[in-house]
Amino acid sequence: MKVWVDDGVCRGHGMCLTLCPEVFSLTDDGYAEAMTSVVPTELEEATREAIASCPEQAIKET
Ligand code: SF4
Repeated sequence: MKVWVDDGVCRGHGMCLTLCPEVFSLTDDGYAEAMTSVVPTELEEATREAIASCPEQAIKET
């Protein structure tokens, strides 16, 4: 799976970082970014949890 964060929608709540810190981090601007566009198989479940938990639905899966 591939993911990216729409920084026009993200509000920097940090929920994704809490659920999957291996994939998501906060930029200096206070928004989340995916550190890797291709998610390793072993992190897909945590990534999907982060996608489902994002209050802004800012995490996009391709
Ligand atoms: S949970 Fe959603 S809104 Fe919050 S930092 Fe992550 S991507 Fe942004």
